[in-house]
Amino acid sequence: MDVLESIFTRALNLELPWNITKIEFTESEGKIKIFIDFSRGSVFQCPKCKKEVKAYDTTEKQWRHLNFFQYACYLVVRVPRTDCTEDGILQVEVPWARDTADFTFLFESFVMTLCREMPVNKVSQIIKVDDNKLWRMMNYYTEVARKLEDYSGVSRIGIDETARTKGHNYVSLFVDLQDKRTIFVVEGKGAEAVAEFKKDFTEHNGIPENITDASIDMSPAFIKGVEDNFPRAEITFDKFHIMKIINKAVDEVRKAEAKEQDILRGQKYLFLKNRETLTDTQKDILKAIESMPRLNLKTVRAYHIRENFQGIYQEETRGEFEQALKKWYFWAMHSRIEVIKEAAKTIKRHWHGVIQWYDSKVSNGILEGLNSLVQAAKAKARGYRTFKNLKTIIYMLTGKLDYSKVGLPI
Ligand SMILES: [Zn+2]
Repeated sequence: MDVLESIFTRALNLELPWNITKIEFTESEGKIKIFIDFSRGSVFQCPKCKKEVKAYDTTEKQWRHLNFFQYACYLVVRVPRTDCTEDGILQVEVPWARDTADFTFLFESFVMTLCREMPVNKVSQIIKVDDNKLWRMMNYYTEVARKLEDYSGVSRIGIDETARTKGHNYVSLFVDLQDKRTIFVVEGKGAEAVAEFKKDFTEHNGIPENITDASIDMSPAFIKGVEDNFPRAEITFDKFHIMKIINKAVDEVRKAEAKEQDILRGQKYLFLKNRETLTDTQKDILKAIESMPRLNLKTVRAYHIRENFQGIYQEETRGEFEQALKKWYFWAMHSRIEVIKEAAKTIKRHWHGVIQWYDSKVSNGILEGLNSLVQAAKAKARGYRTFKNLKTIIYMLTGKLDYSKVGLPI
């Protein structure tokens, strides 16, 4: 064996009976081919019963491997088949790849890592591999990694829906609030999505009766879904979703009022942000608007009601929390602003689940974070074509799946 062959033997971690017989550079194609063979008379395990048998015949197979400098590297291997008395003629397993794959494990790991960081079609261009092949590989590993997931310890879940595209396609996400990971992704939304989650959850050793808390928005479909499928779960209406309702009301007030008050035009986000997070310019504008009491702007009153609602979440005891919420409700109902009253009524109708936050302290805040990852996933999966692909990339980014369990060293 020459020096180069021995370097590659070590780099590839090749063990007997495998050995390198030839290394071929094709400068013009930018390729390097490493030819691998086995010593004569070697025995191999039958892939089924693991009994040791001699090689029956061979076929040549090729696997793409990690680049060697600028060269695309391929392993060209004489792969033996065994003829086991029990199982018949079968191709033996090789240590560097799945037999049906076109890539080695290391190359697959590398590609999976790239696809987490950049759009899949871009990865496809860089490594010059058709993106359908990349998707097939990612779908395969994600599916087998998910099969091994165990949800027996999950007790607090969050549910959220996100638009798949602009339009009416929805994706529902089910999140383990403790481990901060997505445990189920399904097309559609509402009660049916929850039922599908329950089925999958049970298949992964999840125990529906162990779910003590579910954090959801106030959509009747999710409420029904949780009540039907997770009877012991206390529903918490997530603060982020309640804020969405209040923000929508505040914005409607501002929009209507801006027709007569120029000062409110173009200030949508000023009134939808917390005071501390405003920019300096926004702070100045807000101060100016607030110091003009003669205007008696509904928008300012609505903003103060919004601000007060957030303050409720700082209360120390459950009693104080509920007391503050009651006060807030009274104020909102006497605001003489119709849309604010509507928002307050919605909260009143869901009183128990709003208060429940104090005990459960669960929040979809994690989900908001995951949601932005999901948006990123959609971007990375640009041209994902099928829902299956989108699902895969969401799991890859937010599912915390253990790919090392399925043979990938990532
Ligand atoms: Zn056998």
